[in-house]
Amino acid sequence: MDFQPLNLQGTDAKRPIVIAGPCSAETEEQVLATAKQLAANGIKIFRAGIWKPRTKPGGFEGVGSEGLPWLRHVKQETGIYTATEVATAKHVYEALKYGVDVLWIGARTTANPFAVQEIADALKGVDIPILIKNPVNPDLELWIGAIERIYNAGLHKIAAIHRGFSSYDKKVYRNQPQWHIPIELHRRYPNLPLFCDPSHIGGKRELIAPLSQQAMDMQFDGLIIESHCTPDTAWSDKDQQVTPEILDVILRKLVIREMKQSTEDLVDLRRQIDGLDNDLLEILAKRMRVSKEIGTYKKEHDVAVVQTGRYNEILEKRIANGEKLGMSHDFMRTILEAIHEESVRVQVELINK
Ligand code: PEP
Ligand code: MN
Repeated sequence: MDFQPLNLQGTDAKRPIVIAGPCSAETEEQVLATAKQLAANGIKIFRAGIWKPRTKPGGFEGVGSEGLPWLRHVKQETGIYTATEVATAKHVYEALKYGVDVLWIGARTTANPFAVQEIADALKGVDIPILIKNPVNPDLELWIGAIERIYNAGLHKIAAIHRGFSSYDKKVYRNQPQWHIPIELHRRYPNLPLFCDPSHIGGKRELIAPLSQQAMDMQFDGLIIESHCTPDTAWSDKDQQVTPEILDVILRKLVIREMKQSTEDLVDLRRQIDGLDNDLLEILAKRMRVSKEIGTYKKEHDVAVVQTGRYNEILEKRIANGEKLGMSHDFMRTILEAIHEESVRVQVELINK
């Protein structure tokens, strides 16, 4: 696939390209007030969800087509580009009718090839930038498949948005970053612009800044961040939206490091290592939590912390598995013993509390 630049004047010059705006368009006043503040702070692309895919029925499902004239109004008043999510052919026709400049496909839609194909068919012959969020599940091929469907419909101004991957475990992130997945996407398609959505990854305002910095350190091209004039009263995703003012502070504080061309290959590999290390830490933390739960069970049922039989069995099996995966016996033993030792320490501490 040979992607073209998004070609949105005034946005391509420097990293990051920032798309900002509320999770959802709620009222004309809220949309205009937010957009005006963002535009005054130099934001060039305004996002607002018109049709909202909600996990359960009964939640706020978006204002629907009624909100499209508000976006047109935003463009007339501020000159800012507008962007919204499309999930069906009807959404595409409606958004185009009202002159929306950029469309994005949401995570739930990317996961459904029928829906993506329907959107691709509706877009045939239209030359508009389209951003494709990763599917909710960590499946790179499914993400690439959605990108291919849109590309094959003749749209080549495509970018990918990394918004994290759904998981049952929502302790730190709303959606697990699993950075190695977007990084692998970049390795395969180096000219596909990559955006990061720290609002949906983090699910919390305070994670927007560190996640944005991480994305910049990994050389992402852009950010899509939820911003609302009064986030606390937002009708959807209120915990992960910031005021345009706070957004401005976050963006100003970002450190943008440019990588030298000659080390590009090394940079890619290092980004993979960064991502994998983060994943390793998350998995390790998850393992420690489960281990703690086992500790609680042992305490309640008066079971000894170290059960030699179980330990030897684990160790032997794991070492053999590790060797099958190409790692040395000694390395496996060192790592697994260290993990086990820490689990025992944590459980003993818990039992003696
Ligand atoms: C959104 O951008 O508001 C949204 C619904 O995101 P996602 O598809 O990433 O859940
Ligand atoms: Mn949202």
